[in-house]
Amino acid sequence: MACDIFLTLQPGNVKMPALGYGTWQSLDDALERALETALEVGYRHIDTAERYMNEDVIGRVLKRWFDSGKLKREDIFVTTKLSPMEMQADKVENSLRESLRKLQLDYVDLYLIHFPLSIISKDNDVYGDPDFDVLDIWKKMEEQVDAGRTKTIGISNFSIKKVDKILKNCRIKPANNQVEMHVYLQQKELVDFCTKNGVTVVAYAPLGSRGYNHFLSKVGKPPRELPDIFTDPVVVEIAKKHSKKPSQVVIRFLLQTGVAAIPKTVTSERVKENFDVFDFVLDDGDMTKLRSIDKGNDGRVCDFRAVGRFWDHPDFEL
Ligand code: NDP
Repeated sequence: MACDIFLTLQPGNVKMPALGYGTWQSLDDALERALETALEVGYRHIDTAERYMNEDVIGRVLKRWFDSGKLKREDIFVTTKLSPMEMQADKVENSLRESLRKLQLDYVDLYLIHFPLSIISKDNDVYGDPDFDVLDIWKKMEEQVDAGRTKTIGISNFSIKKVDKILKNCRIKPANNQVEMHVYLQQKELVDFCTKNGVTVVAYAPLGSRGYNHFLSKVGKPPRELPDIFTDPVVVEIAKKHSKKPSQVVIRFLLQTGVAAIPKTVTSERVKENFDVFDFVLDDGDMTKLRSIDKGNDGRVCDFRAVGRFWDHPDFEL
């Protein structure tokens, strides 16, 4: 099986497989094993970030695959992201160099600004930097393309207003905006705006970020009641009709919407299950029904503003 749907990123007509492998909260041996399975199954797009603290594991696995001749560098699409703690113009180049060192790569395919804000440490605490200007960072991002350290550059967690700000002030347009997107948070307005402007979209948390409470517990926050898209009657009915799993229906829905999806799992069976979405097609009726279960902003799971007061920065909105 192979992913037969691609998005094209500029500059350079770079092909991104529309189904990728997410790695937030995936670490060490569990990630190493699962990533081996993912590559065997056919995933050719890996999503990581400096903040995930797993670039070194991914680099190790990729090196094994390159050394054995099972994979060539150009066969795989790798995304990593600039941490909000490194969002200062003079840190961008070194941060990407450090990611490349850990990934054991000469370049990544896509380098994203992880969040539209800069976090600084002062007096043993962390704050949103009030003087931060995303355009200063974007200039440095553009220089990384010039230097060949990344094929393309993009943004993540950017609203329409913020994407527009970059579009109006850039030399190289953002190739991609990575945002939370699933059947309960369909982001139609944002996707339409990005698409109209040549900015591809990657849907993070495509399964509704079922591990989000694990993250909240790690940062000392109480768990939230999360929506379960897998038991939604519409999803269940369409899954039965196609003899597929609810997870496969919600992933397929995103691909047919024209965006990429990056489900995360370290469970070997699920790695395979989530990739097994290329042998069926949702018809217009299925798509209409799935569009009808959008909850808009009420469906959002990953509201990182809950985490700390630096998310109250006036320039940060989801
Ligand atoms: P997902 O929507 O991918 O859900 C992942 C969770 O679902 C895990 O707990 C996983 O468990 C479970 N799961 C996966 N597949 C199945 C299945 N078939 N059946 C049942 N449960 C399943 O959430 P994420 O938040 O991880 O988002 C995906 C990726 O998007 C991230 O890993 C990351 O790469 C990216 N991301 C980017 C963000 C950004 O700010 N740019 C923010 C959040 C995510 P298990 O692993 O135990 O199998």
